Amino acid sequence: MNNLIFNFKSKDSKKIKNPKNLLGGKGANLSEMGRMGLPVPPGFTISTKVCEIFYKDKKKLNSKLTNQIKKEIKKIEKDVSKKFGDLKNPLLLSVRSGARVSMPGMMDTILNLGLNDKTVVALANKTSNGRFAKDSYRRFIQMYGNVVMGVESYNFEELIENYKLTKGVLLDTDLDEEDWDGLINDFKNVVKEKTSKDFPQDVYHQLFGAISAVFLSWESKRAKVYRKLNQIPSEWGTAVNVQSMVFGNMGNDCATGVVFTRNPSDGSNDIYGEYLINAQGEDVVAGTRTPQYITKKARKEAKVVDASMEESMPEVYHKLYKILKKLEKHYKDMQDVEFTVESNKLWILQTRSGKRTSKSAVKIAVDMVREKLINKNDAVLRVDPNSLDTLLHPTLDERSSIKVIANGLPASPGAVSGKVVFSSEEAERLNEMMQDTILVRVETSPEDIQGMHAAKGILTSRGGMTSHAAVVARGMGRPCVSGSSEIEINYDKKVFKTSSTEIKEGETITIDGSTGRIILGTVPTIKPEISGDFSKLMSWADKIRKLKVRTNSETPLDTQTARDFGAEGIGLCRTEHMFFDEERILSVREMILSKTLDDRSNALKKILPHQKKDFMEIFKIMHGLPVTVRLLDPPLHEFLPKSDKEISEVANVVGSDKKDIESRIEELHEQNPMLGHRGCRLGISFPEIYEMQCRAIFEALADLKKNKQKFAFPEIMIPLVSTEAEIKIMKDLVINTARKVQKENKTKIEFLVGTMIELPRAAIKADDIAKHAEFFSFGTNDLTQTTFGISRDDSGKFLNDYIDNKIFTIDPFVSIDDGVKDLVEIAVSKGKKQNKKIKLGICGEHGGDPKSIKFCSKAGLNYVSCSPYRVPIARLAAAQAELTKNKN
Ligand code: ADP
Ligand code: MG
Ligand code: MG
Repeated sequence: MNNLIFNFKSKDSKKIKNPKNLLGGKGANLSEMGRMGLPVPPGFTISTKVCEIFYKDKKKLNSKLTNQIKKEIKKIEKDVSKKFGDLKNPLLLSVRSGARVSMPGMMDTILNLGLNDKTVVALANKTSNGRFAKDSYRRFIQMYGNVVMGVESYNFEELIENYKLTKGVLLDTDLDEEDWDGLINDFKNVVKEKTSKDFPQDVYHQLFGAISAVFLSWESKRAKVYRKLNQIPSEWGTAVNVQSMVFGNMGNDCATGVVFTRNPSDGSNDIYGEYLINAQGEDVVAGTRTPQYITKKARKEAKVVDASMEESMPEVYHKLYKILKKLEKHYKDMQDVEFTVESNKLWILQTRSGKRTSKSAVKIAVDMVREKLINKNDAVLRVDPNSLDTLLHPTLDERSSIKVIANGLPASPGAVSGKVVFSSEEAERLNEMMQDTILVRVETSPEDIQGMHAAKGILTSRGGMTSHAAVVARGMGRPCVSGSSEIEINYDKKVFKTSSTEIKEGETITIDGSTGRIILGTVPTIKPEISGDFSKLMSWADKIRKLKVRTNSETPLDTQTARDFGAEGIGLCRTEHMFFDEERILSVREMILSKTLDDRSNALKKILPHQKKDFMEIFKIMHGLPVTVRLLDPPLHEFLPKSDKEISEVANVVGSDKKDIESRIEELHEQNPMLGHRGCRLGISFPEIYEMQCRAIFEALADLKKNKQKFAFPEIMIPLVSTEAEIKIMKDLVINTARKVQKENKTKIEFLVGTMIELPRAAIKADDIAKHAEFFSFGTNDLTQTTFGISRDDSGKFLNDYIDNKIFTIDPFVSIDDGVKDLVEIAVSKGKKQNKKIKLGICGEHGGDPKSIKFCSKAGLNYVSCSPYRVPIARLAAAQAELTKNKN
């Protein structure tokens, strides 16, 4: 079998294993449609293999190839009874690029190839339509001059615009044959002037030039940049499609258009698209004329008077409708189809899977199962889990007027409006007064947690998609636009500036964390719906997946949200966030700054009832499901007073000098707090803190039991363990505290004790640790930080350089790194060897990332845990992981 050139109708291409690899996406579908007997203009595909040969032959088409191409042209000539370059009835061609995946940056299509000063006259005579022939020729000179000869298109546009000005007309359609004649001359002169070459008159010269230009465009700068961004290998190469022309610009019984087999924005089963009468090629998308609707229904809904295709060309419309149904049945997916009508005859020029919104993706997948086009597994695989994000948050009502004042990164989805505030305190103050705010900061830090909670949305001028603001906002489900370099914040004056305006504190803005838009004033939003098709799809996913999905949550609100989204427990309940509450922070500070054990115990006694109350709430909401509570983790200095006022307050309560407090703060200062006195190291130094926390957990459970209320199953998690001795000491502490509480309350409480695996030593020595741990939860945020020795909060400064230099292909804090994967696998295998029943989970940000979830499923973990708003994403991703477990 010759694998270089394939006629659309040839049976050879049916035998190809991966037709898209050899023929490109467009070519593969053209030949598939050809074999289905659809009206595709005759033509052939020059395969990606030829692209390879072209580059090997020093960017030339060798004579063997040019001879084969000539033979194929002969076939087309026979098919359509026209001749390439003929002076009576000339065949015209289109030359179209087509890689495996659709790729902006590749060469634009050249239409009307084969026209020259003589054939254009023949075409005019043959069609008795001089205007059409001249219009086609000038289009060809424009396209060929631009993409093959490198003359920038504005040179041509300018000539047309100037000409229309002198003639006093507005539209291209107002120009007649003589007008185009003059312009054709001008175009040829521009080509000569810019390239010192005449516009080629030899039709084969034109054809080989165009084919070579397609191959050359594979290595163009634009294409290379696109490949890099989308991780497309440069070896793939592109195919070229050569096809006889059909004309949508020959008169009013001609048209060209684009149509989807279903509505791509809401998924309804109505064909949807646009067309233009008497037009060619990309006129529909070029925006020079307003296209009309395909269906009468869409036209009416849009309240437009211009006739739809259904009304103006009813017969052709019905043919098109039938073909669209056939295509959808054949490809079993929604199709995006390009067509042209020449003198009332319909031609199909392209089909491919249509791009769609997440809402329509879900609807189409579920509908197609109902229609028995696909099965449930197919449907589950059809929807991109990450795209669900937009369905889980309010979105802007795009029908309202939207005035964008600046843009930033779409860091956390959802749209909200609120008053601009520049400090966390102000956000909290207004929150108490039931007012919605947008917290605007250069960047955020752990002290802003309360303010971020109090605000409805977060906007920062610095920091990327994994900055503190972005990560915390996603975790909380707060919309966030981060790193908007277009805004300039002045904290002193309490304003931020954009290029066009200045916004003062208290003014209302809207941020759209799904697109990164910053908008003046309030914009109405549309509430998410997790019912109907969406919940149906989720129920299919739940039946397929083996991996459980838990959530990271420490507030009753988040816990309830997560449970509503289908969370099967809590994988990480951080206890320190409970410390930041205004009422409690003073007692926490008192506890930290106490000089004696007695003082500390007193302060802890004040905190205990608060923690207990928090746990009771959470245990109630998660009744019947496991809740993993992590004991205190961050370095103590995070809780320390900063302002003078705060220091005086604490001095007052502790009953000591301000100076004393200041020197204690000095003492607690650490050079490298991330690697400092934190995690179980705190529990070793101050066991009374962990005892208080365990007591709060167990007393909460004892009370719930006494009150005959339903409660969750507790799993006590010790953070930052790296040695066997640490986990042993901490486990004893937990068990002893449990004993005391059980005795005091004369009740029995079931619980597990386990550890986070977040340090390389813990992963490597997992067998020792598993002697005392009943579960492991992989804290992949810290594990990534400590494996690389990179601080996540500082990585923004060099991450881009690392990506530019191909050291990282993706931010390792977003998608789990290979080295970290190895550590997880070591820990899993050693942990299981020591303790067959050990429970395994992950609670880092990666727990909500579909790629990482696939790894977790493979690695044999029992569950993933992610932020409440990612729970449905993780459920779907876990099902996909199960369905594709034998593929990589
Ligand atoms: P893209 O990859 O950008 O979609 P295409 O190769 O599909 O590029 O070409 C762009 C447009 O050119 C098509 O939508 C179609 O209208 C027009 N076109 C391509 N081939 C032909 C042809 N053989 N006859 C008429 N028009 C064509
Ligand atoms: Mg295009
Ligand atoms: Mg196309």
